[in-house]
Amino acid sequence: MTRITGRNFLFVPGPTNIPDRVQRAMLVAMEDHRSSKFPDLSSSVLSDLKKVFKTNEGQVFIFPSSGTGAWEAALTNTLSPGDKILASRFGQFSHLWVDMAQRLDFDVQALDVEWGEGVPVEKIEEILRVDKKHQIKGILACHNETATGVTSDIAGLRKVMDAANHPALLLVDAVSSLASIDFCMQEWRVDLAVSGSQKGLMLPAGLGILAVSPKGLEAMQSATSRRCYFDLADMISANGMGYFPYTPALPMLYGLREALDIIFEEGLDDIFSRHHYFAEGVRAAATEGWGLELCAKAPKWYSDTVSAIMVPAGINGAHVIDVAFRRYNLALGAGLSKVAGKLFRIGHLGDLNELMLMGAIAGAEMAMLDVGVDVVSGSGVAAASNYWRSNDPIPKRKVSKEEQFYEAHSTGSVQ
Ligand SMILES: *Cc1c(COP(=O)(O)O)cnc(C)c1O
Repeated sequence: MTRITGRNFLFVPGPTNIPDRVQRAMLVAMEDHRSSKFPDLSSSVLSDLKKVFKTNEGQVFIFPSSGTGAWEAALTNTLSPGDKILASRFGQFSHLWVDMAQRLDFDVQALDVEWGEGVPVEKIEEILRVDKKHQIKGILACHNETATGVTSDIAGLRKVMDAANHPALLLVDAVSSLASIDFCMQEWRVDLAVSGSQKGLMLPAGLGILAVSPKGLEAMQSATSRRCYFDLADMISANGMGYFPYTPALPMLYGLREALDIIFEEGLDDIFSRHHYFAEGVRAAATEGWGLELCAKAPKWYSDTVSAIMVPAGINGAHVIDVAFRRYNLALGAGLSKVAGKLFRIGHLGDLNELMLMGAIAGAEMAMLDVGVDVVSGSGVAAASNYWRSNDPIPKRKVSKEEQFYEAHSTGSVQ
């Protein structure tokens, strides 16, 4: 039975909820993508995306694909078959990027890390220090491993690359971190930053987004991997005039324009603070309320966009997810591959607020009770409530009680 009434509660970590403003912006008639007006739209989204990646000098590319396509574009445009790549895997997404690199005939050294931890920065430093001949051409890192709810330290990775004085390209998967967890492409000197539309950018799936540093663009000259649809050279010449080498996904671009407007209205820093605050509430529900463990092994790995919550032994996480979906119209994220059945995930990124998340927490709790998990009814909601009521989403702006009262009662300022 599927519920007809009420909203579907979508709490998978992508696709995320789409703001009504973005949905409306995408309801457009088709138009000529070779018109003289089209470049206004394409140029504005391409240049504004640079602000989201935090790069002035880099260049952004938009492909009609999902994030996986942008992974492929990053690899094939800058590396040659047989090139040595150093990567680490600790979840389904870091695993899949390694798998792709192997299938594209790169020579991948994959460091296997326990699921629940992230990029092993010290181990990478050791390897780079002994690679005196600089045979390693590229380093792959997954900034936010969506399968386990683990965020890695990309600034720290850059630091050890510099300490080893290593010239490899730095390729980073920022699909489930961009526009939700701070990502500083230029400061961290990331060469290829991969993203997609259906996570922090609050759009449907359908755009693969890639930001490339000047060093990454330079690497294209010597990279001999076969590429055609994803060839950045074709994009560069067409984008230069505000066009695409093929028919662009027009409604998605209008949606992206609106999503970028919303992002800049809120401000990136406030977006990151809000995501941290939401994540802390969800983590409080899981650990203090339900007494369950996160898949992420230590606080330094905690992701502010997704929490992977371990179910107790003897319980199948897939059962919790299925009951949540069928009975309460709540979509939770599944355990993927190695952690299938062992956990469920709550995505807390994009267009959200506390009470939407309360729905996810309450629904997950009801489904857990239904399948026999020993949690106290109401405990998750209570823990999240305690956290959110006693913390400010944007901690740096401390507002006094009087100001709060004034703001809440003056016209036009209630948000
Ligand atoms: C969602 C996601 C991807 C890309 O998946 P697509 O389905 O191809 O968009 C890649 N990496 C991470 C970390 C992700 O969360």
